[in-house]
Amino acid sequence: MKAFFVGLVSRKAPLAAVLTGVMVTVAGLAVFGVRGAHAQNDANAEVHVLPVQGNVYMIVGAGGNITVQAGKEGVLLVDAGFANMAPKVTAAIKTISERPLRYIINTHAHADHTGGNEALAKTGSIIAGGNFAGTTTDIGNTASIIAHERVQQRMSEQKPALSFGMLPTDTYFTAKKELFFNGEAIQILYQPAAHTDGDSLVFFRRSDVVSTGDIFTPIGYPVVDLERGGSINGLIDSLNRIIDLTVPADKQEGGTYVIPGHGRLCDEADVVEYRDMATIIRDRIQDSVKKGMTLEQVRAAKPTRDFDPLYGATTGFWTTDKFVEAVYKSLSQKK
Ligand SMILES: [Zn+2]
Repeated sequence: MKAFFVGLVSRKAPLAAVLTGVMVTVAGLAVFGVRGAHAQNDANAEVHVLPVQGNVYMIVGAGGNITVQAGKEGVLLVDAGFANMAPKVTAAIKTISERPLRYIINTHAHADHTGGNEALAKTGSIIAGGNFAGTTTDIGNTASIIAHERVQQRMSEQKPALSFGMLPTDTYFTAKKELFFNGEAIQILYQPAAHTDGDSLVFFRRSDVVSTGDIFTPIGYPVVDLERGGSINGLIDSLNRIIDLTVPADKQEGGTYVIPGHGRLCDEADVVEYRDMATIIRDRIQDSVKKGMTLEQVRAAKPTRDFDPLYGATTGFWTTDKFVEAVYKSLSQKK
């Protein structure tokens, strides 16, 4: 997978960016997660910009991956990284565009994807018609923060309470929300009960890039946050949705690019491989649940054994044991 990544990116990015990507992959394996977040929160971490395709760029190193779409109308982000990384993220965005930040889309509620909301939004401004923005004091001085309403609810429930400026300002509750920005159709697609209960995929139709949040995290096993409404079946449905959206180029490489929640830039073939892994393990554990096996018996049967060299972890936030437990509990829940 790593060799493929180098080949994939070297056609379009300088060597430094390629090395950065590989370093992120390796570092990601080592530090997959702290409590409630899936990346190490290291204020000294370096932030890097990787051109993806069309109007879309990827910022790595700030927590979860950040997607940047930039053009004449300004800048749009998918996710915001950790709070303490906001100054470095702002500096990285400026290397792409000097125009104002207009939108932040949150793929879900976790702090490694939403922590920068307030600080980044304050650097921007909404697009308001006529004199509207000038007639009120606050409105107009920050970028809009868009998310599914479950993200806003989960963040509002958090203890200690988050400041008001951290919360999404523009929520949706339907199957999708659409934007047209910088000459590009952008679809925000709700994925019920996947990584959490508020996940969105973001599809940039002209640039041909999908930003997945933590539904797809090729640095480790999928994270099913049962406490926040995630489920393994919903997560697999959502991986299949990503595969529906993506179209590969020649020899099944390239074409639509996929920006995962954590880890390197991917394409459809990577998502297919990951979906297959998740499906095979789900089916094995589902069989065990049907046979009435306990969690301990399922663990002892090692349902992930053949995939552990690629995705397994014995330390960090999301160990193989926790993944097996989450899948087991997800499949044992009464419907
Ligand atoms: Zn997450």
